[in-house]
Amino acid sequence: FCAKSERSGHHVYDASDDDDGALRLRTVQELRVALAEDQFELHYQPKVRLSDGEVTGVEALVRWNHPTRGLLLPVAFLPLAEEAGLMPALSTIVLQRAVRRVARWRAEGLDVSVAVNMSGSCILACLPHEIARLLEAHGVPSSCIMLEITEDVLMSSPTGTSAILAELRSTGVQIAIDDFGTGYSSLAYLRDLPVDELKLDRSFVTAMKDDQRAVGLVGSIIDLAHSLGLRVVAEGVEDERSRDELLARDCDFAQGFLIAGPLPAGAVSPWLSERRVGAGRA
Ligand code: C2E
Ligand code: MG
Ligand code: MG
Ligand code: MG
Repeated sequence: FCAKSERSGHHVYDASDDDDGALRLRTVQELRVALAEDQFELHYQPKVRLSDGEVTGVEALVRWNHPTRGLLLPVAFLPLAEEAGLMPALSTIVLQRAVRRVARWRAEGLDVSVAVNMSGSCILACLPHEIARLLEAHGVPSSCIMLEITEDVLMSSPTGTSAILAELRSTGVQIAIDDFGTGYSSLAYLRDLPVDELKLDRSFVTAMKDDQRAVGLVGSIIDLAHSLGLRVVAEGVEDERSRDELLARDCDFAQGFLIAGPLPAGAVSPWLSERRVGAGRA
């Protein structure tokens, strides 16, 4: 969407631009309504510890239950929400819902933490006091919440953002670097950033399938992360061979369709119970 908006100032009139513009404008208006009427829902993707298959947490992934277009994935609306300045409002809704859900799971005896994806705008706009208030209101320990931040966000405003993250982390909230390897973070930053977990981008895991050098690279990233005291999560694990290779290379956790895709909130505890019954087969 960046490329598009940069371009539109320069080139000559094109009817398809108008259509696009109209669609975007309508979608932004619909997003405002969606925020007011709470048309969003969260799906939760499990994260497992590779050494024993234990589910240690879930990641909240937002979907828009659009009145006419059905359930929309983030790619269909997050860039526009960001552009229209609606991300802080959306993130507040996501955080509220995720914390409420964790409180419910805990009441049912499920000990899982929840990871929430955070854009840069909302870290600076609303984050620390909002999180403290929510955790307090729902009686959820701060260690049950993890925030996932992409490298570019960490890099774009390194001091402002990392000061806020450091403050949050000192209260026990966990921090993960999302999509690691796709951005431009330097290794020096990796050493200094207030983070607990590094999420290795899916593209690295995919590359392992047919490239032995990719396997070596992944192994080196894992060793590097460990030497800095970080845990490593592999994203997008889709087959058993990749999982076994990751375990052999000492990767700590995995997420991916091999284990489970994002599940509707109500499907999480049945999925967990079924998995327990089948434990050992993992
Ligand atoms: P992400 O945080 O890296 O989340 C992982 C994405 O990969 C999810 O897509 C998930 O459904 C997908 N995925 C998981 N396992 C596999 C796999 O094995 N294979 C493949 N091909 N895909 C897999 P989704 O739900 O469409 O989310 C896309 C992105 O949107 C997320 O990437 C995250 O950056 C962003 N996002 C989602 N929810 C939120 C939110 O509440 N706030 C913010 N700021 N961003 C969000
Ligand atoms: Mg994520
Ligand atoms: Mg990711
Ligand atoms: Mg990713």
